[in-house]
Amino acid sequence: MDKYIESVYNSLVEKDPLQKEFHQAAYEVLTTIEPAIKKYPVYKEQKILERFVEPERLVQFRVPWKDKNGEIQINRGYRIQFNSAIGPYKGGFRFHPTVNLSILKFLGLEQILKNSLTTLPMGGAKGGSDFDPKGKTDAEVESFCYAFMQEIYRYIGQFTDVPAGDIGVGGREIGYMYGAYRKITNQHGVGVLTGKGLDFGGSLIRTEATGYGAVYFCEEMLKAKKEIIKGKTALISGSGNVAQYATEKLSQLGAKVVTLSDSDGFIYDPAGVDEKKLAYVLELKNVKRGRISEYAEKFKGVEYTPKKTPWGIKADLAFPCATQNELNGKDAKMLIDNGCKAVTEGANMPCTLDAIEALQKAKVLYAPGKASNAGGVATSGLEMSQNSQRFFWTREEVDEKLHGIMISIHKNSYDTAKLFGQPGNYVMGANIAGFLKVANAMVAQGYYA
Ligand code: NAP
Repeated sequence: MDKYIESVYNSLVEKDPLQKEFHQAAYEVLTTIEPAIKKYPVYKEQKILERFVEPERLVQFRVPWKDKNGEIQINRGYRIQFNSAIGPYKGGFRFHPTVNLSILKFLGLEQILKNSLTTLPMGGAKGGSDFDPKGKTDAEVESFCYAFMQEIYRYIGQFTDVPAGDIGVGGREIGYMYGAYRKITNQHGVGVLTGKGLDFGGSLIRTEATGYGAVYFCEEMLKAKKEIIKGKTALISGSGNVAQYATEKLSQLGAKVVTLSDSDGFIYDPAGVDEKKLAYVLELKNVKRGRISEYAEKFKGVEYTPKKTPWGIKADLAFPCATQNELNGKDAKMLIDNGCKAVTEGANMPCTLDAIEALQKAKVLYAPGKASNAGGVATSGLEMSQNSQRFFWTREEVDEKLHGIMISIHKNSYDTAKLFGQPGNYVMGANIAGFLKVANAMVAQGYYA
């Protein structure tokens, strides 16, 4: 590693030695943008890297709420407003017991580059809480969302910071938070949250966008190798929002999805998750809030494996769509040995650094989440545009725009990697392409901005 970049990395580790996930994300970014730092000395002169890895603002607060027994519970809430050089802060809220500053800083850093890649004017942010919506009643989730918004409302807004969903925050939670925002501020906060219901400012296709976008990105990677999605088998992890719509789009394009998972285990369905079975998964996960093991009880010929991930199953494509670090070096080796052609990240940082290295070495197409899962935030950007103009595009119009954005993110990442001497290295391409726009905006706005 270049000495200057190493000193930036060492300094962030020294400052926050326990933030392992943040170190991992920063290491991946810093090491791959080295050629750009060397090519443009102004970034070093202006201390862009030192500023880039330090959030502009970080808010932490307590969230007191009442559970179903009337007992007071206290959770922690956070918002990390990481970088607003190219637009208002934008990034999801995650509600999960593992949420802490390290997880949110890694997600926030990724979000800066991802949002830049979409070409829309959005800065990077991330937030959430260690609250676990799993097993809670609707009333408990509502009580928590109201309490969370009672504090966070003062830091967000159409021109300041526009949060969305992430793990544990879907349509139900966004609805409750939007209702709370409206009551507290006495405003219809046009564009203050994205992922809203269609009846109160949401965009068509936003729910589907991350999963669809990941498949569109994979399609472009395959095209560059003169391959197509049709006829391929695919492994998907997770069974939440991203996994559901990656499954739908893959089936529409003629692939067969044979696995889905949740934090308890995975199902293997050799016949494939077809339209009818996917409708069952949507009902199971989004309405009944059940476990993926129930899929194996419902349909014949399906195996359920508890406490394991699906990466040992033979398939052409893999889409990790659950959570960070869910696919390690050993998993990558199994995929490679089984002839997997492409790994497309639907989740954020699902592959560990050694998995990425192994995949790239074996010449397996590898798409980093900041490029391949950017369809969600891109469509959030489209939701903001529609809210500002107070009209709505049709489903076909939004899908076409999303598809166009994913094609352009692929092209930008592909061309940039080639330009900097590593054709096919989508990690380098995406990181440099995303970084240059933000870095140039930071230089132009002066050191204090
Ligand atoms: P979601 O709807 O809450 O679903 C998450 C899925 O991942 C669930 O099946 C969950 O299983 C599983 N999961 C969560 N933690 C896990 C763990 N520690 N081990 C194994 N499985 C785990 O969330 P989502 O919106 O689909 O998000 C999934 C990933 O995509 C995240 O990395 C997120 O940051 C990323 N992402 C999402 C969007 C978006 O628009 N939603 C956009 C870009 C990136 P359980 O039900 O058992 O917890």
